[in-house]
Amino acid sequence: MFEPVLLKNINTPDSHRIEVYLKNGGYQALPSALKMQTDALIQMIKDSGLRGRGGAGFSTGLKWSFITKDPTIPKYLCCNADEGEPGTFKDRAIIEKDPHELIEGMAVACYAIGAKAGYIYIRGEFACGAKRLEQAISEAYKKGYLGKNILNTNFNCDLYVHKGAGAYICGEETALIESIEGKRGQPRIKPPFPAQVGLFAKPTVINNVETLACIPHIINKGPKWFASIGPEKSPGPKIFGVSGHVKRPGLYELPMGTSLREVIFTHAGGIRDGRKFKAAIPGGVSAPMLTEKDLDTSMDFDSMAAKGTMLGSAGVIVMDDTTCMVKVAMRTMGFFRHESCGKCTPCREGTDWTYKVLRRIEHSQGKEGDVELLESLCGNIFGRTFCPLGDGAVMALRGALKNFRDEFEYHVKNKRCAV
Ligand code: SF4
Repeated sequence: MFEPVLLKNINTPDSHRIEVYLKNGGYQALPSALKMQTDALIQMIKDSGLRGRGGAGFSTGLKWSFITKDPTIPKYLCCNADEGEPGTFKDRAIIEKDPHELIEGMAVACYAIGAKAGYIYIRGEFACGAKRLEQAISEAYKKGYLGKNILNTNFNCDLYVHKGAGAYICGEETALIESIEGKRGQPRIKPPFPAQVGLFAKPTVINNVETLACIPHIINKGPKWFASIGPEKSPGPKIFGVSGHVKRPGLYELPMGTSLREVIFTHAGGIRDGRKFKAAIPGGVSAPMLTEKDLDTSMDFDSMAAKGTMLGSAGVIVMDDTTCMVKVAMRTMGFFRHESCGKCTPCREGTDWTYKVLRRIEHSQGKEGDVELLESLCGNIFGRTFCPLGDGAVMALRGALKNFRDEFEYHVKNKRCAV
């Protein structure tokens, strides 16, 4: 039985208060980190094998190492707490129930990269989370874990909470930076990457909440302990958020690499109401869906990529045999159409057009050739957009078409659902 690491305190009463965090061994990593040289600290995170939990799976230590060591240049840390991917609700649990785990991770990260300020970009809808973070930051200042001369060293660090206005695209790192700077949340062209030109045009690291929450545990228990959990190339504990047609939807912290079958059938209790499993989206709606033949796939970055999908945010959306895949595709493209920031034509027009074709199929007005039209539209969006939102929309639709093309054709021909 795997003992939770990141979520181990969330059911303790008042787990968001600093007294409870301290009683459970909190703020022991920060003093240890402050005794280390920053190069050694970054190497420790590299050795742990920690890969970003926001979706891309990039090495966290490597990302930190890209920041210049020039002490005359200001640097920044941004925590991506936007969590807008449908089906994803893991960061929210850390923010609301154990905010000091995140704050301690941020303080260590700031020290490692030489930043004196960190911003938590939190989605506007997370009102409770933003309040908890502000309270927790205030508690940390009072105890000397933030502010000037932290723990009697010459390390200074301020943290700020910045609330977004609810745009999905602000979870993309450069749109997030634009939004913190007070501009319209639209992605920037890359390169330059944020490690060179980021927040306020200064070198910036952007890490996800769950990624930063791993940091205190790596320092306390060592990089070898972290690397020993799960697959060699994607180690560590991982929070899976399971929703949809299961008996026990919720958050399950398990070793990275747990199979999709175990997540759904052992931990989430299997399919509800005696129905049959039909498909699952493994990592938020952008991730192409998997079917029964894929249930034994290991849930880690590389195994999911080998199956043509993504671990993404590990928000697992489960669908039973009553689910109409045309409706799923229509809802998904409706979401991307709504959230497209409008900056580039293939995404802005393409998501709208695919949504309209799917809507007419779903509403019994599909025309012969509509399935081919959808495929052609996907080809004209994929790889031609400014940021990954356009590609993500196509991947989701292509996943549905690849696995359930017959359902789309049935809908067009018979003007009704196949299920
Ligand atoms: Fe905006 Fe979509 Fe283009 Fe991204 S791909 S910049 S969301 S229009």
